[in-house]
Amino acid sequence: MNFNIPITNKKRIVIIGGGFGGLELANKLKKSNFQIVLIDKNNYHQFPPLLYQVTSAGLESNEISFPYRKLFQKRKDFYFRLAEVSAIVAENNYIETSIGRLSYDYLVIASGTTTNFYGNENIMKYSMPMKTIEEGLALRNRILTNLEKAITSTDADERQSLLNIVVVGGGATGVELSGAISEMKRFIIPKDYPDLGSDKMNIYLLEGTSKLLGNMSEKASEYAAKTLDEMGVTIRCDSLVTDYKDGKVYLDNGNTIDTRTLIWVSGVTATRFENIGKEQTGRGGRIIVNEFNQIKGFSNIYAIGDVCLLTEEKFPNGHPQVAQVAIQQGNLLAKNFKRMESGKPLEPFHYKDLGTLATIGRNKAVADLHRIKLKGISAWLVWLLVHLRSILGVKNKLFVLINWIWNYITYDQSMRFILYVPKTSKNEKENLSQ
Ligand SMILES: Cc1cc2nc3c(=O)[nH]c(=O)nc-3n(C[C@H](O)[C@H](O)[C@H](O)COP(=O)(O)OP(=O)(O)OC[C@H]3O[C@@H](n4cnc5c(N)ncnc54)[C@H](O)[C@@H]3O)c2cc1C
Repeated sequence: MNFNIPITNKKRIVIIGGGFGGLELANKLKKSNFQIVLIDKNNYHQFPPLLYQVTSAGLESNEISFPYRKLFQKRKDFYFRLAEVSAIVAENNYIETSIGRLSYDYLVIASGTTTNFYGNENIMKYSMPMKTIEEGLALRNRILTNLEKAITSTDADERQSLLNIVVVGGGATGVELSGAISEMKRFIIPKDYPDLGSDKMNIYLLEGTSKLLGNMSEKASEYAAKTLDEMGVTIRCDSLVTDYKDGKVYLDNGNTIDTRTLIWVSGVTATRFENIGKEQTGRGGRIIVNEFNQIKGFSNIYAIGDVCLLTEEKFPNGHPQVAQVAIQQGNLLAKNFKRMESGKPLEPFHYKDLGTLATIGRNKAVADLHRIKLKGISAWLVWLLVHLRSILGVKNKLFVLINWIWNYITYDQSMRFILYVPKTSKNEKENLSQ
């Protein structure tokens, strides 16, 4: 198998990953004199901030994803290849992928992160992460299947375990997801499963530190905790999960919770590649880069977004792993490639923090916009606008808006399908590399 990409007199930039950073970079290099190759292990760009709504049956997966080939349909000197990159051979300027080798003049690593299970085998094997669309759909299946099982279970303990949902990680994703599941419990499950007794459903939100939304203001985290509590979510801060076996979550304080649904949204670690060694990585496995996003020791290899660790005075431990950082770095790197072409010096990166948002439920959100701190419906409206604006594609924006309005008016999400992905699709994925 080969990449089938022509060799021209243009310099080739290979971008690994079409997430927020990689996509911004590819888009902003539209009018450059480079040949661009975008490689991603999926054939679509996804919008993770709304993944929890796919999981909680509010949106369909295609509403928060966009195929790369459609995005770049009319683009010249642009090539998308569906492949997984495994190694970077920097000394010879090529990468190893599931479909073969590809050489580059410049390489940009924009491959993001994966879920961090902190080395716990059982948690890795049996918990449900929610980082990708596939995982979001698997989690939706699990929640809905367990409700179906609970309704027919004759064993009281088993039934309770099926009705207990444990979310681990009190960051924005954990808060948003537990809020959404609690709204399902209140508005949907009593109607869909009148004979279940949904009051017996318990939602636990476990957080290892002393507060929820650790990267937001004190006010925001207090409001989130109070609101979730009122919505019936049981919050346990300062609770570290040590194991998950035989349907039991083990906590460091000796307590256990029975559950068939352990949702793990508690941390991430940078994606790794062979030949990127320890000396090039820092906290969370992130690749250390300088102010131009260049990797230590290599003038033609860059890393942007969640995968990289760039420190500046205000961010001595690196930037937060959020979409805005990836987008701003992708944008600046595109500018710097163009500056390089015209022999101008490169501009250093400085993060412009636009604020942080998290939604908790209908009419309930928090927004830290520097000095302005919003909560409740005003924050919720800001959250809706910002997210609607950020989703790719007019059709997706329209469908998301229609679904939101529909769900708001009817209190009813309509995507409650249990759709198992047949095993063959995994084989098909593997076939790509043969
Ligand atoms: C559930 C969830 C909710 C979030 N909510 C918010 C939010 O509300 N606001 C916010 O600012 N941020 C949010 N984030 C974080 C945000 O999504 C990330 O900061 C952002 O996606 C980082 O962009 P990136 O380009 O660095 O990486 P990503 O967007 O993760 O993209 C990485 C890309 O690389 C591809 N890839 C990975 N490895 C390989 C490989 N070996 N070979 C080929 N391709 C590869 C992946 O398929 C993916 O397309 C959320 C994240 C999650 C998981």
